[in-house]
Amino acid sequence: MSRSKVSILAGMIIILAIVIFLASSGGLPGSSFTYDPAKAVHSQLSGAKALAHVQALVDIGPRPSGSEANARQRDYIIAELKKVGWTTREDAFTDKTSRGPIDFVNLHARLGDGDSAFSRTAEVLVGSHFDTKYMPGITFVGANDGGSSTGLLIEMARVLAANPDLAKRIELVFFDGEEAITSFQVEGLHGSKHLAKKLRTLPEGKRPPYAIIFDMIGDKNLNIGIPSNTDAEMSNTVLVAAEELGTRKHFSVLRTEIIDDHQPLHEIGMRVTNFIDLDYKPYWHTSADTMDRITAESIEITGRTGLLFIEKYLLGGGGRSK
Ligand SMILES: [Zn+2]
Repeated sequence: MSRSKVSILAGMIIILAIVIFLASSGGLPGSSFTYDPAKAVHSQLSGAKALAHVQALVDIGPRPSGSEANARQRDYIIAELKKVGWTTREDAFTDKTSRGPIDFVNLHARLGDGDSAFSRTAEVLVGSHFDTKYMPGITFVGANDGGSSTGLLIEMARVLAANPDLAKRIELVFFDGEEAITSFQVEGLHGSKHLAKKLRTLPEGKRPPYAIIFDMIGDKNLNIGIPSNTDAEMSNTVLVAAEELGTRKHFSVLRTEIIDDHQPLHEIGMRVTNFIDLDYKPYWHTSADTMDRITAESIEITGRTGLLFIEKYLLGGGGRSK
């Protein structure tokens, strides 16, 4: 097939996917929200503010699971979220690793005060891992890998707070233990596996139907490649949101799978997508994953596209009038 035929076909598939997606998402239980451009939060997201959070995290140093620095980082996230009206809950658990048992802590956040903030089941989990890979012998601060997406989620909490009707349908999840000490065949994804195990036992309606994961989204040269082991309709609709925002050139849907925190949620039947830029060599998992490799602009492009996708296409009925 010629290139143009392929792209016309790809375009038709995407449009078909969106029609099906919008038809199915309109019927979400308890869904009465319609996207209102006047209340849009995506355009409020500041890459500079997110980057300042990443700097604060990187200043703590390497933040592997179970470390004192990892706990300090959690305290930072909790304090920042509290400033903008979000309540956090820690979910601590111990898991076996090749370094022996490690104490992990997932952090969950909802808009509102106290336990009541968590009383209603969220419709979308928005996740990022906050641990940095344990790398003895080098100083691995994970500006992009661990830092960028965590800073983004903190900034998302700020802008979402301006639209409580939307924010109350969302739960932020900061996953611990995404990184494998050896390889993903042996370990890793500890936080998302732990959550998936808990969610699997819940009846439908008591668990969020959707999840969006962000990971490594700050690279100067931003190439988000959404893995194939995601919900195809969701992932193709992310491209539509990107087209609308003029950020389309930074996004593609891959034909390959990527092992990341979306996978355990995908396996229990949640509809998931993942904003990940694995095109980060030669800095990935090296001491060169530092602040000078990432930009506010890349975080902003990712964050605004993600939020438009959520507020308009995923939860907002595609912006259809009532
Ligand atoms: Zn990593």
